[in-house]
Amino acid sequence: MMRTHRPGELRADHIGNRATICGWVANRRDHGGVAFLDIRDATGLLQIVVDPAKAGLEGIKQVRSEWVLQIEGEITARPDGTVNDTMPTGAVELVVDSLTVLSESEPPPFPLDERVDVDETLRLRHRYLDLRRTPMQKNLRTRALVNKAMRAAMDDQDFVEIETPMLIASTPEGARDFVVPSRLHPGTFYALPQSPQLFKQLLMVGGFDRYYQIARCLRDEDLRADRQFEFMQLDIEMTFATQNDVQDAVGKAVIAAAEAVRPGEGPTEVPRMTWHEAMERFGSDKPDIRFGMELTDLAAVFATTEFRAFAGAAAVKGVCVDGQGEASRNVVDGLVERAKQLGAAGLVWMRVRDVDGVATLESPVVKFLSPDEQAGVLQTLGATVGDLVLIAAGDWHTTVGVLGQLRLDLGRPPVNVGGLHFVWVVDFPLFDGVTDQGKPISAHHPFTMPHEEDIDKLESDPLSVRSQAYDLVLNGWELGSGSVRIHRRDVQARIFALLGISEAEQQQKFGFLLDAFRFGPPPHAGFAVGIDRIVAIMSGEENIREVIAFPKTQSGADPMTNAPSAIEEVQLRELGLQVRKAPTKS
Ligand code: ASP
Repeated sequence: MMRTHRPGELRADHIGNRATICGWVANRRDHGGVAFLDIRDATGLLQIVVDPAKAGLEGIKQVRSEWVLQIEGEITARPDGTVNDTMPTGAVELVVDSLTVLSESEPPPFPLDERVDVDETLRLRHRYLDLRRTPMQKNLRTRALVNKAMRAAMDDQDFVEIETPMLIASTPEGARDFVVPSRLHPGTFYALPQSPQLFKQLLMVGGFDRYYQIARCLRDEDLRADRQFEFMQLDIEMTFATQNDVQDAVGKAVIAAAEAVRPGEGPTEVPRMTWHEAMERFGSDKPDIRFGMELTDLAAVFATTEFRAFAGAAAVKGVCVDGQGEASRNVVDGLVERAKQLGAAGLVWMRVRDVDGVATLESPVVKFLSPDEQAGVLQTLGATVGDLVLIAAGDWHTTVGVLGQLRLDLGRPPVNVGGLHFVWVVDFPLFDGVTDQGKPISAHHPFTMPHEEDIDKLESDPLSVRSQAYDLVLNGWELGSGSVRIHRRDVQARIFALLGISEAEQQQKFGFLLDAFRFGPPPHAGFAVGIDRIVAIMSGEENIREVIAFPKTQSGADPMTNAPSAIEEVQLRELGLQVRKAPTKS
Protein backbone atom coordinates (compact mmCIF):
# COMPACT_ATOMS: atom_id res chain seq x y z
CA MET A 1 0.00 0.00 0.00
CA MET A 2 1.52 3.32 -1.00
CA ARG A 3 -0.59 5.44 1.34
CA THR A 4 -3.01 5.10 4.23
CA HIS A 5 -4.54 8.58 3.93
CA ARG A 6 -4.77 11.39 1.42
CA PRO A 7 -3.25 14.66 2.62
CA GLY A 8 -6.26 16.94 2.15
CA GLU A 9 -8.56 14.59 4.09
CA LEU A 10 -6.83 14.81 7.46
CA ARG A 11 -8.73 16.58 10.25
CA ALA A 12 -8.61 17.07 14.03
CA ASP A 13 -10.21 13.64 14.64
CA HIS A 14 -7.16 11.99 13.07
CA ILE A 15 -4.88 13.40 15.80
CA GLY A 16 -2.86 10.63 17.38
CA ASN A 17 -3.11 8.35 14.31
CA ARG A 18 -0.20 7.25 12.23
CA ALA A 19 -0.41 8.01 8.51
CA THR A 20 1.50 7.39 5.30
CA ILE A 21 0.77 9.98 2.64
CA CYS A 22 2.05 10.74 -0.86
CA GLY A 23 2.11 13.99 -2.76
CA TRP A 24 3.94 16.91 -4.31
CA VAL A 25 5.88 19.54 -2.38
CA ALA A 26 3.84 22.71 -2.81
CA ASN A 27 6.25 24.86 -0.82
CA ARG A 28 8.71 24.73 2.05
CA ARG A 29 9.71 27.05 4.87
CA ASP A 30 12.68 26.48 7.15
CA HIS A 31 12.31 27.65 10.75
CA GLY A 32 14.78 27.14 13.57
CA GLY A 33 16.34 24.11 11.95
CA VAL A 34 12.98 22.45 11.23
CA ALA A 35 11.46 22.25 7.75
CA PHE A 36 7.73 22.86 7.21
CA LEU A 37 6.44 21.60 3.88
CA ASP A 38 2.97 21.74 2.37
CA ILE A 39 2.24 18.45 0.61
CA ARG A 40 -0.32 18.59 -2.18
CA ASP A 41 -2.40 15.95 -3.91
CA ALA A 42 -5.81 15.93 -5.52
CA THR A 43 -7.49 16.27 -2.13
CA GLY A 44 -5.66 19.42 -1.06
CA LEU A 45 -2.74 20.49 1.12
CA LEU A 46 -1.30 19.18 4.39
CA GLN A 47 1.53 20.68 6.43
CA ILE A 48 4.30 18.29 7.39
CA VAL A 49 7.10 18.95 9.86
CA VAL A 50 10.53 17.44 9.30
CA ASP A 51 13.47 17.58 11.68
CA PRO A 52 16.55 17.01 9.48
CA ALA A 53 18.53 16.05 12.55
CA LYS A 54 16.49 12.83 12.89
CA ALA A 55 18.10 9.72 11.43
CA GLY A 56 16.97 9.04 7.87
CA LEU A 57 15.55 12.52 7.32
CA GLU A 58 18.74 14.32 6.27
CA GLY A 59 17.60 14.03 2.63
CA ILE A 60 14.95 16.71 3.23
CA LYS A 61 17.64 19.33 2.66
CA GLN A 62 17.68 18.60 -1.08
CA VAL A 63 13.91 18.45 -1.49
CA ARG A 64 12.45 21.24 -3.65
CA SER A 65 9.08 22.31 -5.00
CA GLU A 66 7.18 19.69 -7.01
CA TRP A 67 9.28 16.76 -5.84
CA VAL A 68 7.08 13.75 -5.11
CA LEU A 69 7.37 12.28 -1.62
CA GLN A 70 6.05 9.39 0.38
CA ILE A 71 5.96 10.28 4.05
CA GLU A 72 5.15 8.40 7.21
CA GLY A 73 4.56 9.89 10.61
CA GLU A 74 2.13 10.90 13.29
CA ILE A 75 -0.76 13.28 12.90
CA THR A 76 -0.56 15.85 15.65
CA ALA A 77 -2.43 18.97 16.67
CA ARG A 78 -0.74 22.14 15.49
CA PRO A 79 0.79 24.07 18.43
CA ASP A 80 -1.27 26.94 19.86
CA GLY A 81 -1.20 30.03 17.69
CA THR A 82 -0.26 28.14 14.52
CA VAL A 83 -3.72 26.78 13.61
CA ASN A 84 -4.64 27.94 10.09
CA ASP A 85 -8.41 28.41 9.75
CA THR A 86 -8.21 29.10 6.03
CA MET A 87 -7.01 25.55 5.31
CA PRO A 88 -9.34 22.53 5.72
CA THR A 89 -6.39 20.65 7.25
CA GLY A 90 -5.26 23.72 9.20
CA ALA A 91 -5.78 22.17 12.66
CA VAL A 92 -3.25 19.36 12.16
CA GLU A 93 0.22 18.59 10.88
CA LEU A 94 2.11 15.41 10.17
CA VAL A 95 5.33 14.95 12.16
CA VAL A 96 7.54 12.91 9.86
CA ASP A 97 9.62 9.86 10.88
CA SER A 98 10.41 8.48 7.48
CA LEU A 99 10.54 9.90 4.03
CA THR A 100 11.04 8.48 0.54
CA VAL A 101 11.65 10.60 -2.54
CA LEU A 102 9.43 9.04 -5.24
CA SER A 103 10.54 11.47 -7.93
CA GLU A 104 12.40 14.72 -8.37
CA SER A 105 11.37 17.84 -10.26
CA GLU A 106 13.18 20.55 -12.09
CA PRO A 107 12.12 24.02 -10.95
CA PRO A 108 8.68 24.53 -12.56
CA PRO A 109 8.52 27.16 -15.33
CA PHE A 110 5.89 29.10 -13.42
CA PRO A 111 4.70 29.16 -9.82
CA LEU A 112 1.87 26.72 -9.21
CA ASP A 113 0.33 29.11 -6.72
CA GLU A 114 -3.19 29.93 -7.86
CA ARG A 115 -2.83 33.58 -6.87
CA VAL A 116 -0.10 34.20 -9.44
CA ASP A 117 -1.26 35.26 -12.91
CA VAL A 118 0.60 33.27 -15.55
CA ASP A 119 0.72 33.82 -19.30
CA GLU A 120 -1.80 31.45 -20.91
CA THR A 121 0.52 30.11 -23.62
CA LEU A 122 3.05 29.15 -20.95
CA ARG A 123 0.28 27.46 -18.97
CA LEU A 124 -0.86 25.54 -22.05
CA ARG A 125 2.69 24.53 -22.99
CA HIS A 126 2.97 22.87 -19.58
CA ARG A 127 -0.70 22.08 -19.09
CA TYR A 128 0.19 19.05 -16.93
CA LEU A 129 1.66 21.49 -14.39
CA ASP A 130 -1.17 23.97 -14.78
CA LEU A 131 -3.59 21.14 -14.02
CA ARG A 132 -1.98 20.77 -10.58
CA ARG A 133 -3.19 24.28 -9.68
CA THR A 134 -6.32 24.55 -7.56
CA PRO A 135 -8.62 26.35 -10.06
CA MET A 136 -8.02 23.75 -12.79
CA GLN A 137 -8.48 20.91 -10.30
CA LYS A 138 -11.76 22.49 -9.23
CA ASN A 139 -13.04 23.26 -12.72
CA LEU A 140 -12.42 19.79 -14.14
CA ARG A 141 -14.10 18.24 -11.10
CA THR A 142 -17.06 20.56 -11.65
CA ARG A 143 -17.13 19.36 -15.23
CA ALA A 144 -17.23 15.74 -14.12
CA LEU A 145 -20.08 16.54 -11.72
CA VAL A 146 -22.07 18.25 -14.48
CA ASN A 147 -21.60 15.28 -16.83
CA LYS A 148 -22.54 12.84 -14.11
CA ALA A 149 -25.67 14.75 -13.09
CA MET A 150 -26.85 15.19 -16.66
CA ARG A 151 -26.21 11.56 -17.50
CA ALA A 152 -28.15 10.44 -14.46
CA ALA A 153 -31.03 12.77 -15.36
CA MET A 154 -31.20 11.32 -18.88
CA ASP A 155 -30.96 7.73 -17.61
CA ASP A 156 -33.75 8.43 -15.12
CA GLN A 157 -35.95 9.63 -17.97
CA ASP A 158 -35.36 6.41 -19.87
CA PHE A 159 -33.03 7.85 -22.51
CA VAL A 160 -30.59 5.36 -24.06
CA GLU A 161 -26.94 6.35 -24.43
CA ILE A 162 -25.78 5.52 -27.96
CA GLU A 163 -22.48 6.43 -29.66
CA THR A 164 -22.45 7.72 -33.21
CA PRO A 165 -19.41 7.62 -35.53
CA MET A 166 -16.62 10.17 -35.81
CA LEU A 167 -15.72 9.46 -39.43
CA ILE A 168 -18.74 10.44 -41.45
CA ALA A 169 -19.97 12.35 -44.45
CA SER A 170 -20.62 16.05 -43.87
CA THR A 171 -23.43 17.18 -41.48
CA PRO A 172 -25.64 20.19 -42.13
CA GLU A 173 -24.77 22.47 -39.18
CA GLY A 174 -23.54 25.15 -41.50
CA ALA A 175 -19.95 25.43 -40.27
CA ARG A 176 -16.76 24.34 -42.04
CA ASP A 177 -15.91 20.65 -41.70
CA PHE A 178 -12.69 19.14 -40.49
CA VAL A 179 -11.84 16.46 -43.00
CA VAL A 180 -9.84 13.25 -42.77
CA PRO A 181 -8.30 11.77 -45.91
CA SER A 182 -9.13 8.17 -46.66
CA ARG A 183 -6.17 5.81 -47.29
CA LEU A 184 -8.26 3.01 -48.75
CA HIS A 185 -10.10 5.33 -51.11
CA PRO A 186 -7.44 7.86 -52.11
CA GLY A 187 -8.76 11.26 -53.05
CA THR A 188 -11.82 10.92 -50.82
CA PHE A 189 -12.40 12.29 -47.36
CA TYR A 190 -14.39 11.70 -44.23
CA ALA A 191 -15.78 14.66 -42.37
CA LEU A 192 -15.58 14.81 -38.59
CA PRO A 193 -19.07 15.36 -37.17
CA GLN A 194 -20.19 18.92 -36.58
CA SER A 195 -22.80 17.17 -34.45
CA PRO A 196 -24.51 13.76 -34.44
CA GLN A 197 -27.55 15.44 -36.02
CA LEU A 198 -28.34 13.09 -38.91
CA PHE A 199 -27.39 9.96 -37.00
CA LYS A 200 -29.63 10.79 -34.08
CA GLN A 201 -32.51 11.34 -36.48
CA LEU A 202 -31.74 7.94 -38.02
CA LEU A 203 -31.82 6.42 -34.52
CA MET A 204 -35.38 7.72 -34.24
CA VAL A 205 -36.24 6.07 -37.56
CA GLY A 206 -34.55 3.01 -36.03
CA GLY A 207 -37.10 2.98 -33.23
CA PHE A 208 -34.94 4.08 -30.30
CA ASP A 209 -37.48 6.56 -29.00
CA ARG A 210 -35.15 8.46 -26.64
CA TYR A 211 -31.44 8.84 -27.39
CA TYR A 212 -28.71 10.78 -25.68
CA GLN A 213 -24.96 11.01 -25.92
CA ILE A 214 -22.26 13.19 -24.45
CA ALA A 215 -20.92 13.82 -27.90
CA ARG A 216 -17.77 15.42 -29.27
CA CYS A 217 -18.50 17.86 -32.09
CA LEU A 218 -15.96 19.46 -34.41
CA ARG A 219 -16.34 22.68 -36.36
CA ASP A 220 -13.59 24.52 -38.19
CA GLU A 221 -14.55 28.04 -37.13
CA ASP A 222 -12.57 30.95 -35.74
CA LEU A 223 -11.98 30.45 -32.05
CA ARG A 224 -13.23 32.78 -29.33
CA ALA A 225 -13.58 32.79 -25.58
CA ASP A 226 -16.69 30.64 -25.88
CA ARG A 227 -15.68 28.54 -28.85
CA GLN A 228 -13.15 25.76 -29.53
CA PHE A 229 -12.72 23.57 -32.62
CA GLU A 230 -13.89 20.56 -30.65
CA PHE A 231 -16.53 20.81 -28.01
CA MET A 232 -18.83 18.53 -26.06
CA GLN A 233 -22.60 18.48 -26.15
CA LEU A 234 -25.28 16.65 -24.28
CA ASP A 235 -27.05 15.61 -27.45
CA ILE A 236 -30.60 14.27 -27.31
CA GLU A 237 -33.43 13.22 -29.62
CA MET A 238 -36.96 12.01 -28.84
CA THR A 239 -39.78 10.50 -30.90
CA PHE A 240 -43.47 11.31 -30.54
CA ALA A 241 -42.48 14.39 -28.65
CA THR A 242 -43.42 18.06 -28.83
CA GLN A 243 -40.96 20.85 -28.27
CA ASN A 244 -42.26 21.18 -24.71
CA ASP A 245 -41.43 17.53 -24.06
CA VAL A 246 -37.86 18.08 -25.25
CA GLN A 247 -37.50 21.24 -23.22
CA ASP A 248 -38.80 19.51 -20.10
CA ALA A 249 -36.37 16.61 -20.55
CA VAL A 250 -33.38 18.93 -21.12
CA GLY A 251 -34.57 21.20 -18.31
CA LYS A 252 -34.36 18.28 -15.87
CA ALA A 253 -30.76 17.62 -16.94
CA VAL A 254 -29.52 21.20 -16.56
CA ILE A 255 -31.39 21.72 -13.30
CA ALA A 256 -29.77 18.54 -11.98
CA ALA A 257 -26.36 19.86 -13.09
CA ALA A 258 -26.97 23.19 -11.34
CA GLU A 259 -28.09 21.43 -8.20
CA ALA A 260 -24.99 19.20 -8.21
CA VAL A 261 -22.56 22.08 -8.62
CA ARG A 262 -24.21 25.09 -7.00
CA PRO A 263 -26.99 23.76 -4.76
CA GLY A 264 -29.85 26.17 -4.25
CA GLU A 265 -28.73 28.62 -6.92
CA GLY A 266 -30.47 27.13 -9.92
CA PRO A 267 -34.17 27.21 -10.78
CA THR A 268 -36.71 24.45 -10.17
CA GLU A 269 -38.17 25.12 -13.60
CA VAL A 270 -36.80 26.87 -16.71
CA PRO A 271 -39.06 29.72 -17.90
CA ARG A 272 -39.94 30.19 -21.59
CA MET A 273 -39.94 33.36 -23.63
CA THR A 274 -40.65 33.84 -27.32
CA TRP A 275 -37.85 35.08 -29.56
CA HIS A 276 -39.92 38.17 -30.25
CA GLU A 277 -40.34 38.97 -26.58
CA ALA A 278 -36.61 38.40 -25.96
CA MET A 279 -35.76 40.84 -28.72
CA GLU A 280 -38.34 43.40 -27.55
CA ARG A 281 -37.37 43.33 -23.89
CA PHE A 282 -33.66 42.53 -24.01
CA GLY A 283 -32.62 43.30 -27.58
CA SER A 284 -31.03 39.86 -27.82
CA ASP A 285 -31.97 36.28 -28.67
CA LYS A 286 -29.84 35.24 -25.70
CA PRO A 287 -31.29 37.45 -22.98
CA ASP A 288 -29.30 37.88 -19.80
CA ILE A 289 -32.21 38.01 -17.37
CA ARG A 290 -29.99 38.41 -14.30
CA PHE A 291 -30.57 42.16 -14.38
CA GLY A 292 -33.26 44.64 -15.44
CA MET A 293 -32.57 47.71 -17.57
CA GLU A 294 -35.06 46.32 -20.09
CA LEU A 295 -35.83 48.00 -23.39
CA THR A 296 -39.05 50.02 -23.30
CA ASP A 297 -41.19 50.92 -26.28
CA LEU A 298 -41.60 54.67 -26.79
CA ALA A 299 -43.61 54.55 -30.03
CA ALA A 300 -46.75 55.83 -28.29
CA VAL A 301 -44.85 58.71 -26.66
CA PHE A 302 -43.45 59.87 -30.00
CA ALA A 303 -46.42 58.98 -32.22
CA THR A 304 -46.89 62.55 -33.42
CA THR A 305 -43.42 63.93 -32.69
CA GLU A 306 -41.83 66.65 -34.75
CA PHE A 307 -38.34 65.64 -33.66
CA ARG A 308 -36.74 64.55 -36.92
CA ALA A 309 -34.68 61.70 -35.50
CA PHE A 310 -37.79 59.94 -34.17
CA ALA A 311 -40.54 61.02 -36.58
CA GLY A 312 -41.57 58.22 -38.91
CA ALA A 313 -39.11 55.71 -37.43
CA ALA A 314 -40.34 52.11 -37.48
CA ALA A 315 -39.22 51.71 -33.86
CA VAL A 316 -38.37 54.09 -31.01
CA LYS A 317 -37.09 52.42 -27.87
CA GLY A 318 -35.35 53.49 -24.73
CA VAL A 319 -33.51 52.18 -21.72
CA CYS A 320 -33.10 53.81 -18.35
CA VAL A 321 -29.64 53.43 -16.85
CA ASP A 322 -30.15 53.72 -13.10
CA GLY A 323 -27.86 56.14 -11.30
CA GLN A 324 -25.72 57.00 -14.33
CA GLY A 325 -27.24 60.44 -14.90
CA GLU A 326 -24.03 62.22 -14.01
CA ALA A 327 -21.81 60.10 -16.28
CA SER A 328 -19.15 62.34 -17.83
CA ARG A 329 -19.55 63.81 -21.30
CA ASN A 330 -16.76 61.53 -22.41
CA VAL A 331 -18.68 58.48 -21.29
CA VAL A 332 -21.92 59.51 -23.03
CA ASP A 333 -20.05 60.44 -26.20
CA GLY A 334 -18.50 56.96 -26.03
CA LEU A 335 -21.98 55.43 -25.89
CA VAL A 336 -23.08 57.42 -28.95
CA GLU A 337 -19.97 56.25 -30.78
CA ARG A 338 -20.60 52.64 -29.76
CA ALA A 339 -24.23 52.85 -30.95
CA LYS A 340 -23.05 54.11 -34.34
CA GLN A 341 -20.51 51.31 -34.62
CA LEU A 342 -23.34 48.88 -33.92
CA GLY A 343 -25.29 50.31 -36.86
CA ALA A 344 -27.55 52.94 -35.28
CA ALA A 345 -27.97 56.30 -37.03
CA GLY A 346 -27.45 57.91 -33.63
CA LEU A 347 -28.28 57.69 -29.96
CA VAL A 348 -30.15 60.25 -27.93
CA TRP A 349 -29.10 60.59 -24.29
CA MET A 350 -30.72 62.59 -21.54
CA ARG A 351 -29.81 63.14 -17.91
CA VAL A 352 -32.57 63.22 -15.32
CA ARG A 353 -31.88 66.13 -12.97
CA ASP A 354 -33.70 67.75 -10.09
CA VAL A 355 -34.87 71.23 -11.10
CA ASP A 356 -36.76 72.97 -8.28
CA GLY A 357 -37.80 69.63 -6.86
CA VAL A 358 -39.04 68.27 -10.21
CA ALA A 359 -37.40 65.45 -12.20
CA THR A 360 -36.39 67.11 -15.47
CA LEU A 361 -34.72 65.82 -18.63
CA GLU A 362 -31.53 67.62 -19.66
CA SER A 363 -29.88 67.08 -23.02
CA PRO A 364 -29.00 69.06 -26.16
CA VAL A 365 -32.12 67.58 -27.83
CA VAL A 366 -34.68 68.27 -25.12
CA LYS A 367 -35.66 71.57 -26.78
CA PHE A 368 -37.02 69.57 -29.75
CA LEU A 369 -39.37 67.53 -27.55
CA SER A 370 -42.79 68.73 -26.44
CA PRO A 371 -43.54 68.86 -22.69
CA ASP A 372 -45.86 65.87 -23.13
CA GLU A 373 -43.13 63.88 -24.84
CA GLN A 374 -40.67 64.71 -22.05
CA ALA A 375 -43.19 63.68 -19.40
CA GLY A 376 -43.97 60.55 -21.42
CA VAL A 377 -40.30 59.52 -21.53
CA LEU A 378 -39.89 59.91 -17.78
CA GLN A 379 -43.08 58.08 -17.02
CA THR A 380 -42.79 55.23 -19.53
CA LEU A 381 -39.18 54.48 -18.59
CA GLY A 382 -39.81 55.03 -14.89
CA ALA A 383 -36.78 57.34 -14.87
CA THR A 384 -36.01 59.31 -11.73
CA VAL A 385 -33.46 61.92 -10.68
CA GLY A 386 -29.93 60.65 -11.16
CA ASP A 387 -30.74 58.30 -14.08
CA LEU A 388 -29.46 58.37 -17.65
CA VAL A 389 -31.95 57.79 -20.46
CA LEU A 390 -30.82 56.37 -23.82
CA ILE A 391 -33.15 56.36 -26.83
CA ALA A 392 -32.60 54.85 -30.27
CA ALA A 393 -34.85 54.96 -33.32
CA GLY A 394 -34.82 53.35 -36.74
CA ASP A 395 -35.65 49.92 -38.13
CA TRP A 396 -36.78 47.45 -35.47
CA HIS A 397 -33.87 44.99 -35.74
CA THR A 398 -31.14 47.59 -35.47
CA THR A 399 -32.89 49.57 -32.76
CA VAL A 400 -33.44 46.65 -30.40
CA GLY A 401 -30.03 45.16 -31.23
CA VAL A 402 -28.14 48.37 -30.46
CA LEU A 403 -29.96 49.05 -27.20
CA GLY A 404 -29.61 45.38 -26.24
CA GLN A 405 -25.85 45.61 -26.65
CA LEU A 406 -25.62 48.91 -24.72
CA ARG A 407 -27.67 47.31 -21.96
CA LEU A 408 -25.06 44.54 -21.71
CA ASP A 409 -22.14 46.97 -21.90
CA LEU A 410 -23.58 49.05 -19.06
CA GLY A 411 -25.24 46.52 -16.82
CA ARG A 412 -23.98 43.01 -17.32
CA PRO A 413 -22.63 41.48 -14.11
CA PRO A 414 -19.55 39.22 -14.14
CA VAL A 415 -20.34 35.61 -14.97
CA ASN A 416 -20.10 34.41 -11.35
CA VAL A 417 -22.54 36.99 -9.95
CA GLY A 418 -26.32 36.81 -9.59
CA GLY A 419 -27.01 33.07 -9.62
CA LEU A 420 -27.93 30.80 -12.53
CA HIS A 421 -30.73 32.14 -14.74
CA PHE A 422 -31.82 29.76 -17.46
CA VAL A 423 -34.45 30.68 -20.05
CA TRP A 424 -35.88 28.90 -23.10
CA VAL A 425 -36.14 31.14 -26.13
CA VAL A 426 -38.81 29.68 -28.44
CA ASP A 427 -40.47 30.47 -31.77
CA PHE A 428 -37.32 31.59 -33.58
CA PRO A 429 -37.86 32.74 -37.15
CA LEU A 430 -37.39 29.84 -39.57
CA PHE A 431 -35.10 31.90 -41.78
CA ASP A 432 -32.74 34.62 -40.65
CA GLY A 433 -32.15 36.51 -43.87
CA VAL A 434 -31.78 36.05 -47.60
CA THR A 435 -28.81 35.25 -49.81
CA ASP A 436 -27.60 37.51 -52.62
CA GLN A 437 -29.77 35.36 -54.90
CA GLY A 438 -32.83 36.14 -52.76
CA LYS A 439 -33.05 32.64 -51.24
CA PRO A 440 -33.93 32.46 -47.53
CA ILE A 441 -31.22 31.19 -45.16
CA SER A 442 -32.11 28.56 -42.55
CA ALA A 443 -31.70 29.93 -39.05
CA HIS A 444 -31.14 26.42 -37.63
CA HIS A 445 -30.81 23.56 -40.13
CA PRO A 446 -32.95 22.60 -43.12
CA PHE A 447 -34.78 19.87 -41.18
CA THR A 448 -36.36 22.34 -38.77
CA MET A 449 -40.16 22.19 -38.70
CA PRO A 450 -42.03 25.44 -39.31
CA HIS A 451 -44.74 26.46 -36.87
CA GLU A 452 -47.90 24.62 -37.95
CA GLU A 453 -49.85 27.90 -38.16
CA ASP A 454 -47.23 29.51 -40.43
CA ILE A 455 -46.76 26.72 -43.01
CA ASP A 456 -49.13 28.50 -45.40
CA LYS A 457 -46.80 31.50 -45.53
CA LEU A 458 -43.71 29.52 -46.51
CA GLU A 459 -43.69 30.72 -50.10
CA SER A 460 -45.58 34.01 -49.77
CA ASP A 461 -43.81 35.52 -46.75
CA PRO A 462 -40.96 33.24 -45.69
CA LEU A 463 -39.25 35.71 -43.37
CA SER A 464 -42.36 35.91 -41.19
CA VAL A 465 -42.52 32.13 -40.69
CA ARG A 466 -41.80 31.03 -37.15
CA SER A 467 -40.01 27.76 -36.59
CA GLN A 468 -40.32 25.09 -33.95
CA ALA A 469 -36.73 25.81 -33.00
CA TYR A 470 -35.64 26.78 -29.50
CA ASP A 471 -32.50 27.82 -27.68
CA LEU A 472 -31.51 27.40 -24.07
CA VAL A 473 -29.84 30.44 -22.57
CA LEU A 474 -27.97 30.73 -19.27
CA ASN A 475 -26.90 34.13 -17.91
CA GLY A 476 -26.87 35.54 -21.43
CA TRP A 477 -24.88 32.68 -23.00
CA GLU A 478 -26.46 30.46 -25.62
CA LEU A 479 -26.13 26.95 -24.21
CA GLY A 480 -27.56 25.16 -27.20
CA SER A 481 -30.25 24.80 -29.81
CA GLY A 482 -32.78 22.28 -30.91
CA SER A 483 -35.91 21.85 -32.94
CA VAL A 484 -38.83 19.75 -33.94
CA ARG A 485 -37.69 18.05 -37.15
CA ILE A 486 -39.55 17.80 -40.40
CA HIS A 487 -40.69 14.22 -40.89
CA ARG A 488 -43.20 15.02 -43.65
CA ARG A 489 -41.90 14.69 -47.20
CA ASP A 490 -44.17 17.42 -48.58
CA VAL A 491 -42.98 20.04 -46.09
CA GLN A 492 -39.35 19.01 -46.53
CA ALA A 493 -39.64 19.31 -50.29
CA ARG A 494 -41.04 22.83 -49.97
CA ILE A 495 -38.22 23.88 -47.64
CA PHE A 496 -35.54 22.46 -49.94
CA ALA A 497 -37.14 24.26 -52.86
CA LEU A 498 -37.16 27.55 -50.94
CA LEU A 499 -33.55 27.15 -49.87
CA GLY A 500 -32.62 26.39 -53.46
CA ILE A 501 -31.18 22.97 -52.59
CA SER A 502 -31.48 20.92 -55.78
CA GLU A 503 -32.48 17.25 -55.89
CA ALA A 504 -28.92 16.37 -56.80
CA GLU A 505 -27.53 18.31 -53.85
CA GLN A 506 -30.15 16.81 -51.50
CA GLN A 507 -29.15 13.33 -52.62
CA GLN A 508 -25.46 14.04 -52.34
CA LYS A 509 -25.61 15.73 -48.91
CA PHE A 510 -28.28 13.84 -47.03
CA GLY A 511 -29.65 11.27 -49.43
CA PHE A 512 -29.30 8.59 -46.79
CA LEU A 513 -31.56 10.52 -44.41
CA LEU A 514 -34.14 11.16 -47.11
CA ASP A 515 -33.99 7.48 -48.07
CA ALA A 516 -34.61 6.50 -44.46
CA PHE A 517 -37.55 8.88 -44.35
CA ARG A 518 -39.25 6.76 -47.02
CA PHE A 519 -39.75 4.07 -44.39
CA GLY A 520 -42.07 5.41 -41.71
CA PRO A 521 -40.15 8.23 -40.05
CA PRO A 522 -41.77 9.06 -36.69
CA PRO A 523 -42.31 12.67 -35.64
CA HIS A 524 -39.23 13.60 -33.61
CA ALA A 525 -37.47 16.51 -31.98
CA GLY A 526 -34.19 17.11 -30.19
CA PHE A 527 -31.67 19.38 -28.61
CA ALA A 528 -27.99 19.74 -27.73
CA VAL A 529 -26.55 21.46 -24.62
CA GLY A 530 -23.00 22.83 -24.85
CA ILE A 531 -21.14 21.29 -21.95
CA ASP A 532 -18.07 23.54 -22.10
CA ARG A 533 -20.26 26.60 -21.77
CA ILE A 534 -22.51 25.34 -19.00
CA VAL A 535 -19.46 24.24 -17.00
CA ALA A 536 -17.68 27.57 -17.59
CA ILE A 537 -20.65 29.53 -16.26
CA MET A 538 -21.15 27.23 -13.30
CA SER A 539 -17.43 27.54 -12.51
CA GLY A 540 -17.57 31.33 -12.78
CA GLU A 541 -15.17 31.35 -15.75
CA GLU A 542 -15.54 33.73 -18.72
CA ASN A 543 -13.41 31.49 -20.96
CA ILE A 544 -14.21 27.88 -21.81
CA ARG A 545 -10.47 27.09 -22.05
CA GLU A 546 -10.48 27.21 -18.23
CA VAL A 547 -12.80 24.20 -18.07
CA ILE A 548 -11.15 22.04 -20.76
CA ALA A 549 -8.22 19.84 -19.81
CA PHE A 550 -6.27 20.31 -23.05
CA PRO A 551 -7.71 23.20 -25.09
CA LYS A 552 -6.30 24.92 -28.17
CA THR A 553 -5.13 28.51 -28.13
CA GLN A 554 -7.12 31.25 -29.87
CA SER A 555 -5.15 30.48 -33.05
CA GLY A 556 -6.12 26.81 -32.94
CA ALA A 557 -2.73 25.51 -31.85
CA ASP A 558 -1.63 23.31 -28.98
CA PRO A 559 1.68 24.69 -27.69
CA MET A 560 2.29 21.46 -25.74
CA THR A 561 2.04 18.87 -28.52
CA ASN A 562 2.70 21.36 -31.34
CA ALA A 563 -0.46 20.37 -33.15
CA PRO A 564 -1.21 21.02 -35.93
CA SER A 565 2.01 19.78 -37.48
CA ALA A 566 3.34 18.59 -40.82
CA ILE A 567 3.19 14.86 -41.54
CA GLU A 568 5.79 12.58 -43.11
CA GLU A 569 6.15 12.37 -46.87
CA VAL A 570 5.32 8.65 -46.71
CA GLN A 571 2.04 9.35 -44.93
CA LEU A 572 1.12 11.84 -47.63
CA ARG A 573 2.00 9.34 -50.33
CA GLU A 574 -0.07 6.63 -48.67
CA LEU A 575 -3.05 8.98 -48.64
CA GLY A 576 -2.51 10.03 -52.22
CA LEU A 577 -1.97 13.62 -51.11
CA GLN A 578 0.43 16.31 -52.13
CA VAL A 579 0.83 19.55 -50.18
CA ARG A 580 0.65 22.44 -52.59
CA LYS A 581 2.28 25.03 -50.34
CA ALA A 582 4.90 24.40 -47.72
CA PRO A 583 3.27 24.92 -44.34
CA THR A 584 4.11 28.30 -42.83
CA LYS A 585 5.16 28.10 -39.20
CA SER A 586 2.92 30.32 -37.10
N1 ASP B 1 -27.50 19.50 -34.02
C1 ASP B 1 -27.86 20.74 -33.35
C2 ASP B 1 -26.59 21.44 -32.90
O1 ASP B 1 -25.56 20.83 -32.76
C3 ASP B 1 -28.70 20.49 -32.14
C4 ASP B 1 -30.04 19.94 -32.46
O2 ASP B 1 -30.76 20.50 -33.30
O3 ASP B 1 -30.40 18.94 -31.82
O4 ASP B 1 -26.63 22.62 -32.62
